[in-house]
Formats: sequence, structure tokens, C-alpha cells
Amino acid sequence: MTDRKPLDTEPYKGVRDFYPEELATRRAVFEVIRKALLLRGFEEYDASPLERSELYDRKTSEEIVNEQTYTFIDRGDRRVTLRPEMTPTLARMVSAKRHELVFPVRWFNIGNRFRYERPQKGRLREFYQVDVDIIGIPGEKAEGEAVVTAYDLLSALGAKDQDFTIRISSRVLLNAATEAAGLTSEEAARYIALLDRKAKMPEAQFDQERKEFRKTDRDPLELIEEGGNEAVDTERARLEGLLEAFKARGMENVVFDPTIVRGFLYYTGLVFEIYDTNPENPRALFGGGRYDELVSMFGGQPIPAIGFAFGDVTLMDFLATHNLLPAVKSGAEVFVGTPDESDIPLAQEFAQSLRDVGIATIVHVSGKGLGDQVKEAVRRNIPFFVAYGKDEEATHMVRVKDLARSEEESLEINQVVKHLLQALGK
Ligand code: AMP
Repeated sequence: MTDRKPLDTEPYKGVRDFYPEELATRRAVFEVIRKALLLRGFEEYDASPLERSELYDRKTSEEIVNEQTYTFIDRGDRRVTLRPEMTPTLARMVSAKRHELVFPVRWFNIGNRFRYERPQKGRLREFYQVDVDIIGIPGEKAEGEAVVTAYDLLSALGAKDQDFTIRISSRVLLNAATEAAGLTSEEAARYIALLDRKAKMPEAQFDQERKEFRKTDRDPLELIEEGGNEAVDTERARLEGLLEAFKARGMENVVFDPTIVRGFLYYTGLVFEIYDTNPENPRALFGGGRYDELVSMFGGQPIPAIGFAFGDVTLMDFLATHNLLPAVKSGAEVFVGTPDESDIPLAQEFAQSLRDVGIATIVHVSGKGLGDQVKEAVRRNIPFFVAYGKDEEATHMVRVKDLARSEEESLEINQVVKHLLQALGK
């Protein structure tokens, strides 16, 4: 078997390995998000990434179902899909317990999603997404709260109004406009799909493709912009009311944008997306909207719902661009050196006294000389080094090395814990 080619160490296309530092960064960012959501009374839920494929057949976007799902037949002949998004799972879970749950349900999930996309900046085949949903309230109040929550999450990460723009529109508005413009429902669906692709095509191509949908003197976008149709104007006025409320709350970066439609088929009302103002990151950071019909896909009365999702790939690009990535430390805070292998049990006991107060500590056990142990601690980015053995045990004195400052201090053993806690800012 020696002639076999060694296996590739690269991960599968479009997915990532998270080495400890990268995982620590992702965790730190999601921890800010989790805390902010818990503070607002949202509860965390979870489910398996494996779902029955039928869950996505009807209401997820056609592009995702036909081209982007990881679907396979299991050994029992069931069609199984790795979840490309969380909303259908949430709708399934809420529907299953609709008689027991206290509405409105305010839930969030942080987990991985899978889409067979062409890997590129901002797009991978496995990414992490935060989904936040409010289920059980119709109308503006819940819509306002969803948008405000999205805004607050970016604020919690340190983002300012000038760093991002929230673009809102409405499917009710689009449906009214396409109807008033004389489009059939099939044409309306294609028009909405065209708007969804608008940002990805040259202006001239959009104007060309748009012509096909001019059935009367004005096409849907013109109807929205110029007004004059009652249904269109009523929904437009409703959105203006929402914008006013956001302004009153000091949110200066929310705008109306009728080309925001969102790809998913299940949206029924308000839709919104959040964009980085820096053109280096042109993809949407957040996407969301109202989906009042989705829960009834499992039977029973419809339950009004609104939610949004954002992914770690675009969020990390955003945070890096605006210098907002949290500083993270992974690994130990104290390295306990052992002058001799026979000192290991004493060193372990000393290390335990540090762990007992919450200081992450490792003990050297592989028999290097003390000089090499210090070098190892430096390479591991551990801020403090303390050698501990028979001498320290006998004299009740230790030398604490501050590796970042290249300073050393001799301390009585009963002073060490206090000293380290202070130095570590704990
Ligand atoms: P969507 O679920 O398509 O509405 O997307 C919501 C958000 O999830 C986007 O704004 C991105 O932040 C993120 N996202 C969606 N698809 C991908 C992907 N293939 N790779 C990385 N992030 C993604």
C-alpha cells in the first residue's frame, strides 16, 4: 500500500476548518449576538441539520431547491436534505407545538447551513447563520421590532449608522404594483425574480429586461415611485410610517428601496436587507421579512411571522472592514513549568489552585528544560509563566514571569492568586 498518494489535507470545496484561533473569533462574535438576543427576551432553539427534502419543495426559492441543496437518498429510501436555511425547520417546530407554545414565540438559532453555491467572497457551501424570528404578531409592531433588533445586533458589535444601510420594501407593495401594471401572476413572479437579480447585472441589461413588463403606460417600479394607485400608495404610506418610527428612535440609516424583494417564495409582507456601506462587501449582510403563510404549510390556521437571518462569512468581512473584530485569546493564561519531571505532581497541585479561581492553566509534562518551556509558553502566546517544584514548595516563594513585558517578580505563594487575577483583569 506504500505507493498510495497521500490524502489531501484541504477541506471539501467551499467549507472551512476552524483552527482554535478562528473558532475563538467566531465564538466571540456569536457570543455578543447571543447575549444581545437573550437580553431582548429571545430564546434559543436548535434542530438537526438533516431534514426531509419535502420541507423545502414548496416554499423555499426555486434556485435554492433546484440548484443549491445537498439532497440524498438515505438507506431507507427517504429523500433527505442538509438544511439550506432555518425558517422551514422553525415553522415545522412551531406548527408541531402550536397548541402548547406561548405566542408570540421569540426564538433564535445559531447554526450551520448548507448550499451548493459557487464559492466566492461572501458565499460558501457551509456557513453559519443566526436566525431571529417573532411568530404570532401581525402588523407593524412586529415588523418594527424585527428591524430594530437587527439594527441593535450590529450596534452591539460596535457598528455605527454610517457603516451599514437597512433597505426595506414590501411584497404587498410589489404584488399591488405588478397587478396594477397588468402583469399575470406568472409575469409578476418573473418580474420579482428580475428585481432580485438587479444588483448583480449591468444597469443597461436591467433596463432592457424590464421592458418586457411594460403592459400599460407604467411598469411596476414606476407605479411605486410615481404613485397614483390606491393599493400601492396605501402600502407605501405604511412603509413611510415605519421609516418615521425608525428615525424617531435615532436610526438614521433605514431607507425605502423597492428593488429589495428577497429570493424566498414564502415572504408575504415587509422585506428588508442590510448592506455594508463599504463597496468592498457588496453582498447583503442580513435578509428578512414577513412570512405569514409558512406555518400553515403543516395544516391549521396561518400564524403571522417575521424573521431575519445573517451569516458569519459576510458579517466577519463587515467587522474586519470596519475594524470591529473583537480581540480574542484562545488557550491558557498561565504556563506552569516543571524544573524536573519529579516535580509534576506538586506543579499539578499548584495549577489546580489557579484553576479553582478560574485561571486557565497548563502544566508542562513532556520533560523539556526550563528555558525551552519558557520558549514554548511564548510561542503559545500564554501571558504568564510560573515554575513550580520542590524548591517553591519548600520556600513558599515563586517567580512569576510576565512574558509579554519580559518582567519577573518573586512572590509569596499566598499572594500569587491575587496577583495573577489582577494582572489578567479578572
Ligand atoms: P438568505 O438566507 O439567503 O436570505 O441569506 C441571509 C444571509 O445569510 C445573507 O445575507 C448572508 O449573510 C448569509 N448567506 C446566505 N447564503 C450564504 C452562503 N452561501 N455563504 C455565506 N453566507 C450566506
